[in-house]
Amino acid sequence: MTRTRATDSEFAFELRSCRWAEREWPPAETLADDRAVLVARQLGTKRRRWDTIVLECDRDALEARANFGPKRLDGDLLHVVRNAPADWAYYRDALPDPGYPWRYVREAIHEADDRGILETRKRGNRIEIRRKWAYPAWIDRIVAIENKPDLDASAARTLATQLEYDVALGLADEVWVATRKTGERVEPVLFEDLPVEAGVLALESESLSTEVAWYPRSLSVDEPGTRILERPDGGERDGSAARFEYVDPERKAEKRLAIAERAYERGWRSFVETMRPDCRHFALRGTDGTQLQPHCEAKGRCQTAAECSGSCPEFEPEPPVWRTRGWPIEGGPGTRLSALLEGRRRHRRPGL
Ligand code: SF4
Repeated sequence: MTRTRATDSEFAFELRSCRWAEREWPPAETLADDRAVLVARQLGTKRRRWDTIVLECDRDALEARANFGPKRLDGDLLHVVRNAPADWAYYRDALPDPGYPWRYVREAIHEADDRGILETRKRGNRIEIRRKWAYPAWIDRIVAIENKPDLDASAARTLATQLEYDVALGLADEVWVATRKTGERVEPVLFEDLPVEAGVLALESESLSTEVAWYPRSLSVDEPGTRILERPDGGERDGSAARFEYVDPERKAEKRLAIAERAYERGWRSFVETMRPDCRHFALRGTDGTQLQPHCEAKGRCQTAAECSGSCPEFEPEPPVWRTRGWPIEGGPGTRLSALLEGRRRHRRPGL
């Protein structure tokens, strides 16, 4: 294979890894008919962001989730829709104490009403609520994948620290590293000092063929996790202790649901939202007949999301004449490309 900058870019590799996961997950197995897979990228918590996230879902429950619309439900909305009663009731009687002021609950009730996912009515001064649908348990497992096409020694050290954090916390059910397939008898990544709980996937990004170089262990998502806050630098004279805190299973379950809701909204084709499809050089190119990857005509390769911004020296707005047909209703090519990706994202969410 001829290696170009495009294939070398971590960003391009990440998009290929997302595409592979969408088509082939789980590795070396067949997905059961009643399961579905949803892929997103660049999501996580304040302290830790994962490259690729694979949600293994119950297909019927995922379809039922579509009742609540394509936008994510944040913590306040989830509190309301998950606890809303089947029959009319005063909201303060129906919902558990949220642990924060009730006025935020009222705001969430109004928002849920505006979004058409909750029924409300007024009885005197009292707001009563009734659920439209039960919020389904649509997520079975959350899998985090770190994409490291080229793992030099310093990248491996950083990665090891990140994976140790993931393993100790147990927020995802599994963690993996996806690296470029070298074709060597033993993939070089296995010589790195990575936690044994993390799986290793060798991915050929052009053909999307993979090989499991190391199987992961399932992490204990239902048990308390340990969040590593600080660790000694490991020097010979460094006798300091690591600092950590416990995270209870309920908190972890909340976080997992919040991550899953964001993944549902964003998917992995949302890269276009942080790039400049309105630049005249922006294009989408098919890679395997079906995947559309960003391509910069000025650079002649897949540009990274960071490069493709208003501060890019080669940025040029698409000429107004490109927008004449259908403009301003449909917008120019940039708008149409965004709509194309949005269509594909929705296609992956049955029931929407
Ligand atoms: S020229 Fe810059 S802004 Fe335009 S598509 Fe290429 S990377 Fe993006």
